Amino acid sequence: MITVENLTKSFSGRTGAVVALDGVTLEVAAGTVCGVVGPSGSGKSTLARCVALLERPDSGAIRVDGTDLVSLGGSALRAARRQIGVVPQGDSLLRQRTAAGNVALPLESAGVPGPQRRTRVGELLDLVGLTDKAGSYPDQLSGGQRQRIAVARALAANPSVLLADEPTSALDPETTGSVLTVLDRARAELGVTVLVVTHDMGVVRRICDDVAVLDHGRVIEHGKVLDLVADAGSRTSGSLLPSVD
Ligand code: ATP
Ligand code: MG
Repeated sequence: MITVENLTKSFSGRTGAVVALDGVTLEVAAGTVCGVVGPSGSGKSTLARCVALLERPDSGAIRVDGTDLVSLGGSALRAARRQIGVVPQGDSLLRQRTAAGNVALPLESAGVPGPQRRTRVGELLDLVGLTDKAGSYPDQLSGGQRQRIAVARALAANPSVLLADEPTSALDPETTGSVLTVLDRARAELGVTVLVVTHDMGVVRRICDDVAVLDHGRVIEHGKVLDLVADAGSRTSGSLLPSVD
């Protein structure tokens, strides 16, 4: 379970402060998938990066399974970070490492011994359906395969929470499906709580239980996808309906 309370974050820009998050409150129930949508610059990545502890918020609270992450420091912070898997926005794999080598990275950092590491990497590659690509380098993989490897890497240390920032941008619909299947398996088979940033309402429709709409650093709508689809007055309902083309 992820609880975000009144989160604020500003950046200093050339023309003054940019308010990226302006009091964001959000709750994602354990074992569910929550989509975060909104225009470019609305604060989606900043929210994901704060929850991932890659960015320190100015104020507010972030709790994962009851632990307040904002107050942590030192080794407690490092331990908390391991509880959170991150699929960053854009291409994030190390090009000089094979698919298996990328998935193994968090396990190496955590000091997991070689034999255990190899077993775990095998399980993860199986989970994302890429056992046969273990020895391939990122350049030899398709965009969708690279994203599935990035998901496998994010899940390596058995996190309870997975954050994925635009995991399907720049992918065609079919490839998008393969990445969504992997995110859905993480939730269904591993019980992971998933926060997925996307601009694609198809992604929301297909795998999200809930959706939060950000605008100028505020949540302007939040609810169950099914309720919002049915609510003609909701801002999201129109764009959540499948297009008829
Ligand atoms: P996109 O859909 O384009 O990825 P986003 O919703 O993810 O957009 P953010 O990346 O969270 O948006 O950015 C929110 C605001 O904060 C923007 O105005 C952005 O310019 C600003 N911002 C984000 N990161 C930084 C930073 N490191 N330094 C300065 N400003 C930043
Ligand atoms: Mg972003």
